[in-house]
Amino acid sequence: MLAGLYSVPAVFERFVLPAALPYLPGAPVPPPGFEAADTPLGHAPGSTGSRAYALQESPDPGQPFAAYDPCRPVHYVVRPDNAPPGADELVEQAVAKVSAATRLRFVYDGFTSEAPSEERESYQPDRYGKRWAPVLIAWSTPEESPDLAGDVDGLGGSGYAYITGRPYVLVAGQVELDAPDFAEMLQWPDGRHYARAVIMHELAHVVGLDHVDDPTQLMNPEGTGVTEFAAGDLAGLAVLGGGQCVPEL
Ligand SMILES: [Zn+2]
Repeated sequence: MLAGLYSVPAVFERFVLPAALPYLPGAPVPPPGFEAADTPLGHAPGSTGSRAYALQESPDPGQPFAAYDPCRPVHYVVRPDNAPPGADELVEQAVAKVSAATRLRFVYDGFTSEAPSEERESYQPDRYGKRWAPVLIAWSTPEESPDLAGDVDGLGGSGYAYITGRPYVLVAGQVELDAPDFAEMLQWPDGRHYARAVIMHELAHVVGLDHVDDPTQLMNPEGTGVTEFAAGDLAGLAVLGGGQCVPEL
């Protein structure tokens, strides 16, 4: 049922940025190690054993995958314009589920006026201070974000940063949610569960999960009616929560 609920072309789901070299004078990156603890902030959860997941392709075939640095919190902000009623609670619940599945620590930094953009800068010191920009969750429209046109309810992905010899690290993610689609979805019976599931799906892209063909997983792109993370999704998210700490970035 509900074909098209998560129908999103994979090519639009990543906001992959060029490799960053933080030690160049005037480089557009923050000082290294902001908020970095010595050890991961949460213990990576055990795997469900399922293999019904796919990690996003690493930018470097020599590296297994790119993930957020688990030694520091993942900050996020919300651009509330266009948000449907009850949106804050949906976002809060979806973030909590991704946090529980990865054990990444998410920190809500409040509202922002920043508009979503495919060319979003990963470092915006004037707006967010000298640190990687927080994940932007933006209630948007197809007029503002043309990739939301048609059946697409949401888009999600992260840029990455890289320093020679260390793993790629995801930074500065972005989720664009189709506010008019959500307003309609919320009229359905159980609409809140479907709406929350779309946000969970997009946040899973933000932390590095890709689509799978398995229709019993939330990361199936066709919207098969799944509204919670299933065994494969959870196994993949557990892997992504166990990335390496890279204080050099
Ligand atoms: Zn997707």
